[in-house]
Amino acid sequence: MPSVVLSQLPIPRQNFGRRTGNIPLGAACLKQAGRDLAGVAIEILPQHLAAHLGDAALIDHLSQARAEIYGFTVFSWNLTRSLYFAEKLKTAANCRVIFGGPEITPDNALAKSAFVDFYACGEGEAVFRRLLQDPESWRAGSGAESAADVFRAAESPYLSGMIDPAIENLMLIETQRGCPYRCGFCFYNKSRAGLVFAEEGNLLKAVTWAVERKIAEVYLLDPSLNSRPRLKPLLSAIARRNAGGTVRMFSEIRAEAVDEELADLLAAAGFDWFEIGLQSTNPKALKLMNRPTQLKRFVAGARRLKARGITPSIDLIIGLPGDDLRGFMRSVDFVADQGLQDDVQIFPLAVLPGTDFRRRHRELGLEFENQPPYTVTTSRGFAPEDFLLAYDYAESRLNAAFFPMPDLDASWRLGAVQSLAQASDLRVGLGKAAYVAKLMLNRVRPLDGIRRLARRLTQPYQVLVAPDLGDMNYLKEVLAITTSENPFTPLEVVFFEPAGLPGTRDILAALKLSRPHFLDGDLRFLFPQPGNRAALFTLVSGDPHPRFQGEMERQVYWWRGPALPALPDLDPFETLDGILIDAAAAPAAVAAWQDRFGREAAERFHISFADADLQRRWLLLASPDEYVQQVMPWKAG
Ligand code: SF4
Repeated sequence: MPSVVLSQLPIPRQNFGRRTGNIPLGAACLKQAGRDLAGVAIEILPQHLAAHLGDAALIDHLSQARAEIYGFTVFSWNLTRSLYFAEKLKTAANCRVIFGGPEITPDNALAKSAFVDFYACGEGEAVFRRLLQDPESWRAGSGAESAADVFRAAESPYLSGMIDPAIENLMLIETQRGCPYRCGFCFYNKSRAGLVFAEEGNLLKAVTWAVERKIAEVYLLDPSLNSRPRLKPLLSAIARRNAGGTVRMFSEIRAEAVDEELADLLAAAGFDWFEIGLQSTNPKALKLMNRPTQLKRFVAGARRLKARGITPSIDLIIGLPGDDLRGFMRSVDFVADQGLQDDVQIFPLAVLPGTDFRRRHRELGLEFENQPPYTVTTSRGFAPEDFLLAYDYAESRLNAAFFPMPDLDASWRLGAVQSLAQASDLRVGLGKAAYVAKLMLNRVRPLDGIRRLARRLTQPYQVLVAPDLGDMNYLKEVLAITTSENPFTPLEVVFFEPAGLPGTRDILAALKLSRPHFLDGDLRFLFPQPGNRAALFTLVSGDPHPRFQGEMERQVYWWRGPALPALPDLDPFETLDGILIDAAAAPAAVAAWQDRFGREAAERFHISFADADLQRRWLLLASPDEYVQQVMPWKAG
């Protein structure tokens, strides 16, 4: 019986337990499409494992499944990691590997690998079924096939239990495939010829299912909701099912299409946020990207949404052909002047495989990174330094932070543990097993044990370095082991009151991370100089003088007073990157402090708590929508 395991690896991030948004909807559609095939067993890598396990632990989990076929949904953020997994799985056992997803395009040479047996371009259901039924079809090595009929008639895979919305408390409903527009930077319009719409009855069934289960959020995956025929009656029907707005609805729309009636219907249906691509107000840039925009109608539509309590989240792009720094600044001014700055997302142009801009990049004068996320580095209008200037301008004009530092979590103890010398590794339960999220180095530990633990690390993970460790060569040996087993997993090294400043360049040189790491490209604007942005260094110290704030470095004040601080007590540490509260107070008193000062403290400072349970409580309190409760509680040892 062919056994299949389908995986989708998440966007790498620096905070453990944060929602990843990595919902394997593509895998669920494939599983649903193949469920009637006799003798085929299809599994999806559980979402909580995909989200929170490091490379080695995930590969071990996948290997143990002994599948004959491994499938990966490939995006720019997981391409190199998926290739690494394919190599490991095929080297270890006789299996076949399929790649599909937006990153798999005929012109993407980076995806080519001897460890991938088949590339499915575009929608996958029909190709997948053929591969499972006809062994000969593997010979082609790649294929594309319309799945319009399957998609149009299919129920949401949530309803058949293929996928569980509980982890992210978010349900994705695919309403349409293909896009009528032809924006030059986008691949979505090329992923299939023509449009296909999910049947209205199935959409309404899915919304009803979400409302009955009180799913917090439903995202209608539609590149432009307004392009759906019979949209207004559909919205009226959704409004009847979601009366009272039990479910918060989200989607994407062209603002120019929003008239008064549509805005009323969207509000009644429960929508409270729309992603709206403006991209630029520069006529030359709009023309080159083939995105005609009527700015007056755009503003009128966005304001109609706002007037009904629906947040228009406006997208802008830096580095578009035809645009320059001044043009970008004018676009930012436009958004601010029109009062549309509540939620603005700004992306550097990504010259994605398969797009018109990629095909015409020479003609358009675009230079870009040849690794994901393919960020443009210069264009005719943008010098390399203009990108940072553009972000600086947008941050000050819109009063926003587009590259915030990761949340602070310098927790290190649990239960009755009082000192770093007594502390041990901190683990989290995921599925039936426990994995190490915080590796404690408060003594020299045998490297064999470190090697074993390196295969049980979470994504991301921390290495906590106590003052007594001292030996930086030993630390480098440990990090070389953990990173060689987990070359794609972001990590943070937290130094507690070290004797001298840690030499981070020296430590970085010892890391066996895959380079360039996706985060190197993705976070290139966090720090102006190139560096390895998949590794973060945090210094926790009782010294209030800033001395450790270079590339991917942050310094945190260690509050070890006998009592908890009042908020004014924290003012002297405003120049640092955060405060670790490690007072000798009872857990109930710390929890009361969190409840009392929570919002105000979180707005002014990056705060962490030494007790890991209280830290998790704090994260859920300060960022209630950002963290996943299921990865609690912690276990020591
Ligand atoms: S950017 Fe949006 S509207 Fe433009 S082609 Fe892509 S999906 Fe369609």
